Amino acid sequence: MPVLVMKFGGTSVATLDRIKRAAKRVGVEVAKGYDVIVIVSAMSGETNKLVGFVGETSPLYDAREYDAVVSSGENVTAGLMALTLQEMDVPARSWQGWQVPVKTTSAHSSARIEEIPTDNITAKFGEGMKVAVVAGFQGVSPEGRITTLGRGGSDTTAVAFAAAFEAERCDIYTDVDGVYTTDPRVTDKARKLDKIAFEEMLELASLGAKVLQTRSVELAMRYKVRLRVLSSFEEQSDEAGTLVCAEEEIMESNVVAGVAFSRDEAKMTLISVADRPGIAAAIFGPLSEAGVNVDMIVQNISEEGRTDMTFSCPVDQVARAEKAMEEAKAAGDINFHDLVADQNVAKVSIVGIGMRSHAGVAAKMFETLRDEGVNIKVITTSEIKVSVLIDRKYMELAVQSLHDAFGLDQAA
Ligand code: ASP
Ligand code: MG
Repeated sequence: MPVLVMKFGGTSVATLDRIKRAAKRVGVEVAKGYDVIVIVSAMSGETNKLVGFVGETSPLYDAREYDAVVSSGENVTAGLMALTLQEMDVPARSWQGWQVPVKTTSAHSSARIEEIPTDNITAKFGEGMKVAVVAGFQGVSPEGRITTLGRGGSDTTAVAFAAAFEAERCDIYTDVDGVYTTDPRVTDKARKLDKIAFEEMLELASLGAKVLQTRSVELAMRYKVRLRVLSSFEEQSDEAGTLVCAEEEIMESNVVAGVAFSRDEAKMTLISVADRPGIAAAIFGPLSEAGVNVDMIVQNISEEGRTDMTFSCPVDQVARAEKAMEEAKAAGDINFHDLVADQNVAKVSIVGIGMRSHAGVAAKMFETLRDEGVNIKVITTSEIKVSVLIDRKYMELAVQSLHDAFGLDQAA
């Protein structure tokens, strides 16, 4: 029998009624002849509540017990989903991560899946079971302790199961009806995409489009798992949602597929550091050890052996970055006159695989921003992406004008 993976996010299993609705969708696929693996999240809000309990009980908590607590929300929905299916006379049972077992690393709260043996579940399908309901987000470490995969990790569980079982497709049911050219809350011209390439989705996910956990897209790309993102609140059809797939499957697409943004950025500048071999290592080594996620980096031309070094990082990491730099200065590893933090910036990016074969895309972006009077503070580019840092107050304007300039409201 072909295998289908169906993942239901927190809002899709938020109440018993919604679990029933989700179970009906599963029933439809079973009737088509699939063996179905259902991956469930915790009911919406549950994981946040559990995370809160842990923090209140023990501020410097033991990460192994954190995982034991926060993984439990998924256990509840897995059992309830199996019961609901049984009530519909669909043969189903639930599995917690350790029962499969979903083997992970021991990096508690951000573990990676290493292996999913398929024999247990496959044997049950052989005995007539139609649906394996698996608790998402969790696994078991080599030490036999419960692990979790990081927030949003059920997406990754779903893709990993689809890869391990060579599923025909992995359907991700969520509260939006697909992947959009940009956030519809910023412009009502945002358009749902029928298809998007893995590479584009990966950029959009890591740039802050929150539909899918970034890890899950990486995994889907590596194992060529066809992913479909669709709403559990709308009528089901085979064309619903957005298919995330290999670019060969996409015949026509716009040069730019989407505009992403993130408002929680900061720009930090070290004024007048010595321009000598090893200076970048002396700055960014301590930042990375302090857990600062540096994104863009610009080094200015130097004058009389000194230069300014600018980088961006999430705004909530500014204090950590400042501390790391002051410590490196006190230790004599670097020397700078001042560290200036601009906490009112946002990052806006255009993404599209078409950029590989089209010249002038970056220039068009810069002209568009110029025409709106938006000043660009930092620029970075990759093969399929151009990102700029701008004043946060112009973020919406920048997104809207770029969406217009690249004609994203129209399909190719
Ligand atoms: N329940 C977990 C979370 O809220 C995992 C998930 O839903 O993907 O992060
Ligand atoms: Mg999610």
